[in-house]
Amino acid sequence: MAHVGVLWTSIENSRHARRVVGQAERGEPAAKGKWALASAGLQISQLFRAVPDFILTFEAGYAAICSDAQWCALVEHELSHCGVERDMYGTPKFRKSTGLPAFTLVGHDVEEFVGVVHRYRAAAAGVQAMIDAAAEGPTIAEADIDFACGNCQG
Ligand SMILES: [Zn+2]
Repeated sequence: MAHVGVLWTSIENSRHARRVVGQAERGEPAAKGKWALASAGLQISQLFRAVPDFILTFEAGYAAICSDAQWCALVEHELSHCGVERDMYGTPKFRKSTGLPAFTLVGHDVEEFVGVVHRYRAAAAGVQAMIDAAAEGPTIAEADIDFACGNCQG
């Protein structure tokens, strides 16, 4: 089990001209310098009572306007970035010093250009599994999401 801290923000963010509405990052601060690191660690500890393994940040303005399905997809996307290091056989790694899982940020399953897929096809570009998943359609319908939400079960 990982300790996941969640932050709401009203601050709009963008990267490469695209709106960023969610973000996953490691809990321990990445500041440079011992004092900056200690200051950031103190702030995070005060927010969450301890340094969480991961921090998820969501933009409240997007949450207010997106559909339930979009919201669930965003939260699952950010949670999917939270993972455990694995060895060459795919077995989860643990820290020798603590015995705890070796948490790490996980990259996206697919990162490729449309042009490469178009010219060399999905198998050569390593995106066939994503295409197969997309072609199967959603396994969770929006109605199921409404039912699963505690706020929607009045
Ligand atoms: Zn992502």
